[in-house]
Amino acid sequence: MIIAVANQKGGVGKTTTAVNLATALAAAGKQVLLVDSDPQGNASTGLGVGRRQRDVSIYEVLLGEALLVDAVQKTSIPGLSLLPASAALSGAEVELVDGERRSHRLADALQSMQCFDFVLIDCPPSLGLLTLNALVAAHSVLVPLQAEFFALEGLSQLLGTIERVRSGLNPRLQLLGIVLTMVDRRNRLSDNVCDDVRAVMGDKVFQTMVPRNVRLSEAPSHGLPALLYDSRCAGSEAYVALARELLARTARPLSKAS
Ligand code: ADP
Ligand code: MG
Repeated sequence: MIIAVANQKGGVGKTTTAVNLATALAAAGKQVLLVDSDPQGNASTGLGVGRRQRDVSIYEVLLGEALLVDAVQKTSIPGLSLLPASAALSGAEVELVDGERRSHRLADALQSMQCFDFVLIDCPPSLGLLTLNALVAAHSVLVPLQAEFFALEGLSQLLGTIERVRSGLNPRLQLLGIVLTMVDRRNRLSDNVCDDVRAVMGDKVFQTMVPRNVRLSEAPSHGLPALLYDSRCAGSEAYVALARELLARTARPLSKAS
């Protein structure tokens, strides 16, 4: 199953969710590929893959200059592989504009490697060609939503984009769910936002909420997922619970869930 972790807003917890959910799924015994599709390369850094180890990256794969199998790397976490990003990726949106099958490049590449139980795609903070490639390649979309006042505002735009992709380029695309991030239960505003999102989106919202937790923000500077940096912290526990919930959700046939 291919899951795009997407939200056109930056700083909402996409990368933190992609890295830690991928790690939790690998820890549950799944074969997982994390695709870093953000030119900032935060997911690659967060897994301890430095810039010099990214000679062959998603950029070369999208441009047709390398095969996926040659760009995918094993990580230090058993069961977790990475397709890293490099800074060159920021040029891909422009370079692909006139390319053949420009929206299907990632989908085509992933066809060639079907050995993974889960592929998680960490999208950049925009709805450009990189995110479109992720949505065309994916079976479903996981949307991290930061529990703050404007959370719902950007969501309708994203849902509109998902709907357009579903009715055109990728009819199988589903909304897997929304995960509330950086939740602060002591903050009434944060609590209200969570209630509002649940009122609007119902059971599309995962029961598991990711709390605001400083360990989650410290871990990437050590090149480690939070689950390895501090497996007992509230943030790690939340991502383990989210993985469990996701496994239960995806055990049901998705095609019937629409
Ligand atoms: P995005 O990929 O959507 O831009 P990130 O996952 O990079 O968002 O998160 C933005 C910032 O917030 C990062 O510095 C990250 O470490 C921090 N962060 C993410 N989730 C949490 C959380 N639950 N608690 C505390 N800090 C978090
Ligand atoms: Mg990110």
